[in-house]
Amino acid sequence: MTDGIDLLALRDRAAECRIVVIGGGIGGLVSALEFAKLGIRVTVLEAAEHCGGALRSGEVAGLTLDLGAESFATRGGHVAALIEELGLSDDVVSPEHGVGGAWVAGIPGVGAAPLPRGGVLGIPGNPFADDVRRVIGWGGAWRAYLDRLRPVLTIGHASSLGKLVRSRLGTRVLDRLVAPVTSGVYSASPDDIDPDVAAPGLNTAITRAGSLTGAVLDLSSQRASAPGGAVQGLSGGMYRLVAALVERIEHLGGEVRTSVPVAELMRDGEGWIVRCEAIEGHDEESETIAADAVVVATDEKTARELIAPHTDGALSALPPVAGPVVDIVTLVVRSPALVDAPRGTGVLTVPGSHRAKALTHASAKWAWVREQAGAGVHVIRVSFGTASEQPATDGLTPDNAALLALEEASSLLGVALTRQQLLGHRTERYAQSQPAAMIGLREQTDAARAAIRSARHVGSVGAWLSGTGLAQVVPDAIEEADRVRRALLFAP
Ligand SMILES: Cc1cc2nc3c(=O)[nH]c(=O)nc-3n(C[C@H](O)[C@H](O)[C@H](O)COP(=O)(O)OP(=O)(O)OC[C@H]3O[C@@H](n4cnc5c(N)ncnc54)[C@H](O)[C@@H]3O)c2cc1C
Repeated sequence: MTDGIDLLALRDRAAECRIVVIGGGIGGLVSALEFAKLGIRVTVLEAAEHCGGALRSGEVAGLTLDLGAESFATRGGHVAALIEELGLSDDVVSPEHGVGGAWVAGIPGVGAAPLPRGGVLGIPGNPFADDVRRVIGWGGAWRAYLDRLRPVLTIGHASSLGKLVRSRLGTRVLDRLVAPVTSGVYSASPDDIDPDVAAPGLNTAITRAGSLTGAVLDLSSQRASAPGGAVQGLSGGMYRLVAALVERIEHLGGEVRTSVPVAELMRDGEGWIVRCEAIEGHDEESETIAADAVVVATDEKTARELIAPHTDGALSALPPVAGPVVDIVTLVVRSPALVDAPRGTGVLTVPGSHRAKALTHASAKWAWVREQAGAGVHVIRVSFGTASEQPATDGLTPDNAALLALEEASSLLGVALTRQQLLGHRTERYAQSQPAAMIGLREQTDAARAAIRSARHVGSVGAWLSGTGLAQVVPDAIEEADRVRRALLFAP
């Protein structure tokens, strides 16, 4: 007995419980690990042939590459803690800053230029700094300087990043520096981003400094100044995190099954019956699995379909929070001209200037990719699709999508790339969730969580609720798993 709790009885109760996690993306796997650690019998059911969801790996021209998420934001330390728990800490790597940071392309009258260092979400601290002026010109710099001369600024929580930057620094800073960052990092317009969430501490710094640029100087002296904050990766690819999670869950006695799409959740007393569909051409037959509790870790649409029938209309009454569709075209090219990484680790675009949203020169950004590719071979990821625009690759065959990506890459990197230089390509489509910093998202997802919690012994995790990004999904999945298991273990 500890503090009146019978630990042996609790352990026995855990061993009797069975939880089914639906969806084997990072959210589902992290929550499954939380259950397995306590000795709860957990089964993960993943519809696809492989776990991972937006963490996807594949071969292109003989190279094994991340085809979806390729890094994690270091903020909060949650992903690093998970990586450490899984024994992968020694393989954590940082981007190759020696090649320079990201560039911005599509600047009217300028073309492409390095994204100024030291900013916060693209907002510069000093509008007259050479690298800032190169992008916004003298006119833009003087307009931004008005920020220092205007009455002292304080912002409320309702302010949008777009409104804030437009009013204090003018449209050149907004269109040429901030919009490329929010579009590239969040697939969203600055008008839809809450500065308080996207740049924690900015609000307080503004109150302290009295101006937006002053606040940025203040903040950037304290924190990493990469566009979306500091990121790291795993040597060999972020997909290794998925493989390590599956291995650890199985080691702890949990079960991870792939090619098992869940079609329906049915009430069975206090618990659940999970109905899985058969997939044509696979051995698995349609089946039902009994569970004391379920955690739905799928995309939003599937989660709603599965849970809504059990929430008395509460979930269906809420509008979806659906995010953009994104295509990532991975190109492997042979090009001596790219050896010196002419545009650093990658290129963001001024919205409307190109058909691509952003490009990552993966073999310049990550040493492990460069070493795998070998001399003269480069890996480039071109992304298409934002909140306001379907991907320009929509409806194209994979070959034509690759040619469009090659054309965009040539323009964004300032280096002619021909189809003869293309050694391989692959296009992957994703339904991306909204960023946590999207204005109103918190209220929407709080309402969705409340509706989900009206059903007993069901939880839901994943980017549609936590906001996109591993740094959001991981801690949220741990918290939700804890809520579900406590309700189960301490149920009267
Ligand atoms: C292209 C792209 C690049 C990204 N890059 C980064 C990055 O570099 N760094 C970063 O931190 N974040 C990045 N993100 C965001 C991050 O990858 C996601 O927020 C996170 O991986 C989402 O995890 P999830 O578990 O919520 O969902 P998902 O990864 O979508 O997983 C959901 C899973 O549920 C399964 N499923 C669906 N329906 C069913 C069903 N009926 N039955 C069983 N299973 C089902 C799916 O097959 C899928 O595997 C990126 C996202 C995208 C799309």
